[in-house]
Amino acid sequence: MIADTPTLFACVALVATIMAFCLILVGQFNQRDGLLTIGFGLSAHALAYIGYTFYGHAPLWLTYGAANTLLAVALAFYGVSVFRIVELPVAWWRVFAPAALMLVLMVSLIDTLEPRMLAATLLLMLQCSLIIYWTRRHIPAQGRARMLLIIGSSISLIGLGMRVVAVLGGGAAEMRYDVSNLKQTISVSIGTFTAMMISLGLVLLSKERSESLLQHMALRDVLTGILNRRAILDQFSTELERARRDSSSLAVAMVDIDYFKQINDRYGHLAGDEVISHCANHLTQRIRHSDSIGRYGGEEFLILLPSTNPEGAVAVLDELRASLAESPAQYDKTKISLRISIGVCCVVPTEGDTIASLLTSADSALYEAKGAGRNTLRFAPSLFQPSETLAVAVLEI
Ligand code: GH3
Ligand code: MG
Ligand code: MG
Repeated sequence: MIADTPTLFACVALVATIMAFCLILVGQFNQRDGLLTIGFGLSAHALAYIGYTFYGHAPLWLTYGAANTLLAVALAFYGVSVFRIVELPVAWWRVFAPAALMLVLMVSLIDTLEPRMLAATLLLMLQCSLIIYWTRRHIPAQGRARMLLIIGSSISLIGLGMRVVAVLGGGAAEMRYDVSNLKQTISVSIGTFTAMMISLGLVLLSKERSESLLQHMALRDVLTGILNRRAILDQFSTELERARRDSSSLAVAMVDIDYFKQINDRYGHLAGDEVISHCANHLTQRIRHSDSIGRYGGEEFLILLPSTNPEGAVAVLDELRASLAESPAQYDKTKISLRISIGVCCVVPTEGDTIASLLTSADSALYEAKGAGRNTLRFAPSLFQPSETLAVAVLEI
């Protein structure tokens, strides 16, 4: 089926205008989610296609030069949106340089046919390639938005590639915007995908981004940025199940800052907050990638060490205790030293071991550590102990 090319252009312009209107309407209320810049992109896209619609009925500089420059501006705004949505600084000059080059080339080549067609098409292809590159580089691989953006830009590359082949094959006259033929219908229809898929991909990207931020906020502790109580307990459930399945040893440590009330009383609540953050940072940086840490309560942390036997747990946790004692927190210009006590239990879990029973064991070991003078580590008494030598070393800390 051969469609009337100007009518096709007008349809794309109409759809892009409606989408641009909606996005600009809602995008103005939150300029950080990228909807406004997608709306600007679609507006430029719509104007470009209005220009193409009037090809042959209005001056060439308007229907070809300005229209292609506007299309380059539209693609630049889509690029800007990618950076905006993933909250990276916008590389303005890199994003808009092809649009500026398009303007220069259109001004200088407007009176030619093949060169101006080749220049415009190749520049648009470069911009689509850049969108693919930025998408692959900055958007996490598992997102659906990423897929839409890459497919949309790739399809657009195919449509533009068809134009280049036609021009190089001597068929430039067939690809004029006021000519209707099968190639033109396919090429313009493919071009429509650019507006639809890229803009939908960007809107979806914005949605995925806010979902992942919300998920992050729901699972993270506001003060320290580590897992909150709910999230570390979820992780506990996963690790317990894994250890049971693999018959491997799981170490569970409850960590509590010593005499923390005194720190609050002496330096103030904000300094206390800083001490909690410092402690969380210190512990997080020193555990293995496979270990987990979460803020269990006010100044209490829960650490899970999978595939760790009692000797291994003592080595790791006691190093954490000792190194933190040597590393004071800093609040304003004051150095605040802190100590921690640790209660540990270590099991190869059976059906009888539950999150509650292991937490109770670690908690009672912590209670013992506090009773033994603090700044120390204790194993849960009822569970198996580290080898004798290590146990003596630890219990004498
Ligand atoms: P111990 O050595 O026995 O652990 O004594 P402690 O003083 O640390 O006693 P406890 O663990 O009961 O102290 C907890 C205190 O932590 C009480 C509470 O006011 C304070 N706290 C809880 N959450 C926060 C917080 O987010 N920020 C600050 N600054 N203080 C908190
Ligand atoms: Mg305490
Ligand atoms: Mg406490």
